[in-house]
Amino acid sequence: MVSPPNTAPRAVGVLALQGGVAEHLRMLESLGADARKVRHPADLEGLDALVLPGGESSTIDRLTRTFGLREPLIDFARAGHPVLGTCAGLILLARTIRDPAPGQRSLGLLDAAVARNAFGPQTSSAEALLTWGGSARPEGTVRAAFIRAPEVVEHGPDVEVLARFEGRVVAVRQGRVLGISFHPELTGDTTVHRELLGLIPD
Ligand code: GLN
Repeated sequence: MVSPPNTAPRAVGVLALQGGVAEHLRMLESLGADARKVRHPADLEGLDALVLPGGESSTIDRLTRTFGLREPLIDFARAGHPVLGTCAGLILLARTIRDPAPGQRSLGLLDAAVARNAFGPQTSSAEALLTWGGSARPEGTVRAAFIRAPEVVEHGPDVEVLARFEGRVVAVRQGRVLGISFHPELTGDTTVHRELLGLIPD
């Protein structure tokens, strides 16, 4: 017997402690997802995927510990649920932060080292059309907004590079973990969010 297609909307959380939360919620809703704010460990229950938004990574790091979310977030990703980190979210995902704020920690879910604010003041805010190597738009493009963006300066063999900006790595994937230096939610380009939804197992 052929089972009917799974038409239930995908439940996708957005970590809502600090940063650009509303734009991600809107973009996910525009793609038909059931988008929910995550502020407490119980909010992770029933989610199919999660977004760690941009903002200030040292602040988000501190708040995840204050709200008891650090270990639950690590467990959520280790259980195989897709996670997308954008900008500060990428910094949170990384194994190593090259230039952390005092006491700043990361979640260590992506085998990569990042440098914060790597593009300097001249591109502290920039928009660019990048070649996108992900499966949501194979060899298509993605319109990216960079705001005090980090760079992936080193990564392990299991990490695939999905996009570069000025030759530098700005989008990567390791299994179901996606890390993006830029803000796809600010340009109206849904490529990266579709990539995340595409990583949810049937
Ligand atoms: N530079 C910021 C940080 O270290 C990230 C900037 C952003 O998320 N737009 O958290």
